[in-house]
Amino acid sequence: KQNALQDIRTSQAITRDGTPIELYANIELPEDCELALENNAFGIGLFRSEFLFLKEDDLPSEEEQFIAYKAVAESMQGKPVIIRTVDLGKDKIPSWQSESEAPNPALGLTGIRLCMAEPQMFRTQLRALLRASAFGKVKLLLPMLSTINEVKQTRVHLDEVKADLRRHQILFDEGIELGGMIEVPAAAMAVGTFLNHLDFVSIGTNDLIQYALAVDRNDDAVSHLYDPLNPGVLQLLYHVISTANRLGKPVSMCGEMAGDPSLSRLLLGLGLRRFSMLPIQLLKVKQLILSAEMAFITPIVAQMLAAEDSDRLRELLQELNK
Ligand code: PEP
Ligand code: MG
Repeated sequence: KQNALQDIRTSQAITRDGTPIELYANIELPEDCELALENNAFGIGLFRSEFLFLKEDDLPSEEEQFIAYKAVAESMQGKPVIIRTVDLGKDKIPSWQSESEAPNPALGLTGIRLCMAEPQMFRTQLRALLRASAFGKVKLLLPMLSTINEVKQTRVHLDEVKADLRRHQILFDEGIELGGMIEVPAAAMAVGTFLNHLDFVSIGTNDLIQYALAVDRNDDAVSHLYDPLNPGVLQLLYHVISTANRLGKPVSMCGEMAGDPSLSRLLLGLGLRRFSMLPIQLLKVKQLILSAEMAFITPIVAQMLAAEDSDRLRELLQELNK
């Protein structure tokens, strides 16, 4: 089995009937690029920038961030590198963030909200990211979007930081793309509006499932209810993917669902063409894609979208994965 996986390492990810698929890697540290390249990732679909912010002492400096982002941009040799702006709050709370007293951290000052509340921190990161964009194909990704205002405000910050860089004759990619995470149900429903203001979206199923089902992703007492194969979750995913496809804007998935080979055919059937996952999952998912046939998948996934409960969904999934 291991050898079979190695044999497909360099082959293109394409279904049996010729649909090309882009397989990206999720990384948490610049060093992880090595594993992404070894497994022939199309690019980095999610670079979680939190590691820089979780140290004991103060916020990371612009220079420190620039060095880390530039390292990733350069090691990926011109392949796309999607770097997510810092997503703190929820489960990751740094010591400098005033001892979180939030009654419900998952619904509190997380992701882009914290960046809106801390504009100096946000601008420092944007400046470091823009500078790194001169060294590879860097794209920006905003976490936890829930209102379009967060995108508009980010654009104001971005434009001002860009103007400052130009004034100082510091190079950056003028065409740098801005994308958003779709992981809050209201943003999923309104994805078309978000895509009017963004270049691409990436579905964060880890959080989207948590918020759609009102199930804490880290609470063992309700972990049995945390289920990607819930009819409402599936319809939400289909809405996001099909809307983006209709609008001709790229949509990827970077939550754990995307790296689960048992769900690969289902996601293909929902119209997903860009998957981002832990590097060690890449070849396993590629194997499933190489064996997939859209003509077989499409009618079964249509049935899945009409299913009333997760038992029925599991039956159909078995059929799909035969
Ligand atoms: C997600 O929510 O699916 C995601 C990819 O982000 P994180 O797991 O970092 O919250
Ligand atoms: Mg998330």
